[in-house]
Amino acid sequence: MPNLHLQNHLDLPERHENKSGKGGLFGQVSIRKNMHKTIHLKSGKDKTLRRKHPWVFAGAIHHVEGKPASGETVAVVSDKGEWLGLGAWSPNSQIRVRMWTFSPTETVDEAFFDQRLAQALTLRLSLEATFPDAFRWIASENDGLPGLIVDRYGDWAVVQFLSAGAEYWRSEIVKGIQKLMPLKGIYERSDVDVRQKEDLLLQTGLLWGEKPPTQVMVQEGALRIGVDIITGHKTGYYLDQRENRALVGQMAANKTWLNTFSYTGGFSLAALAGGAAHVLNVDSSAAALALSEENHRKNGFHPNHYAHLEADVFSCLRQFRSENRLFDGIILDPPKFVASKFHLDKAARAYKDINRLAFHLLKPGGVLFTFSCSGLLDASLFQKIVADAALDAQKTVQFTHSLGQASDHPVLSTFPEGFYLKGLICRTCA
Ligand code: SAH
Repeated sequence: MPNLHLQNHLDLPERHENKSGKGGLFGQVSIRKNMHKTIHLKSGKDKTLRRKHPWVFAGAIHHVEGKPASGETVAVVSDKGEWLGLGAWSPNSQIRVRMWTFSPTETVDEAFFDQRLAQALTLRLSLEATFPDAFRWIASENDGLPGLIVDRYGDWAVVQFLSAGAEYWRSEIVKGIQKLMPLKGIYERSDVDVRQKEDLLLQTGLLWGEKPPTQVMVQEGALRIGVDIITGHKTGYYLDQRENRALVGQMAANKTWLNTFSYTGGFSLAALAGGAAHVLNVDSSAAALALSEENHRKNGFHPNHYAHLEADVFSCLRQFRSENRLFDGIILDPPKFVASKFHLDKAARAYKDINRLAFHLLKPGGVLFTFSCSGLLDASLFQKIVADAALDAQKTVQFTHSLGQASDHPVLSTFPEGFYLKGLICRTCA
């Protein structure tokens, strides 16, 4: 490893030569501070960092010593010059520094990324029984690597570099992935709007190895799921709902289901595997529905037991209400409605609307799986919105389970923002 590291620095183009944290020999904070351009915080603005929250907002910064490049590693110090840690400089984002480490002895270099990737992989492998070949390997801040998402689908890893810091270290990260996992290829899906806040272009493409086929087959429980890495949503699949899909499977037997925002059919496949009588999948994306059809066929389900409808869920729910259609179970898994805190009210109304309509479409004793993946809307507000929706629909409803994101999407205890996917299982009383 040390040789590799040295080699790397000799070979890399100029932008990389400045990469900070070389060596790892300097344990003393005073020496290490001199190795980096330094961010001096305002008085009192060190509190969140001392609690190991990994973000420094622009408004917390008093002044910057030197002119760090985008993504460059900087030292962060308090107003009294006390060492707080090393982070990545994002000159164009309101989150001006994302912390890599709070340790006074850790350096940020290729070995740092190898270590973080290995540590995160160890966690996933300890949970492997539930997801043998498809999992979120790196969940950004929650795995100590702000702005980096790595998902593994079979023989491919899919990477999103979402911050200036992750972008800066992209070649080391790609090398680290290669070192730790035998793969056929690594594909980039950095076509995510948050990159614009970092002044980074949206980009996708092969980073190493073979291009993935149009469908990469992965295992989820007993099911085989086709994942479209190249043009699917996000990195291709919603791994975060894996455990909730399994729960639907456990409660599905002999029921008729309405699976809204169905994407490539994950919840439907789980329900059918659990003995559902019928599932109607509704989504507005023709491509997602086509892959869903194929997933249903490949898993051997009889077309009498499922259907696909290309429609806007809001109008579809209204239409079904006017037709008095009823289901034993409904799944509401909408995309993120809250893009920023300014959208919270509007989003709350949208959540209430679909939940109210869903309650109308449930038979007495029916079950609703309802979700919100909007991080800015917290679990208690979500529960209140669903409760209000039940009141408006004039239904007596009991919450039987609170749900969250799958275990390969851990939440770092110092980073509550890491908890974004909330769900409730609701039962309408007969
Ligand atoms: N439940 C899925 C993931 C859902 S992702 C799973 O477990 O894999 C959200 C889905 O909502 C996407 O497929 C998107 O195409 C769809 N969508 C977004 N807005 C929609 C709308 N207004 N009507 C119908 N589908 C919509």
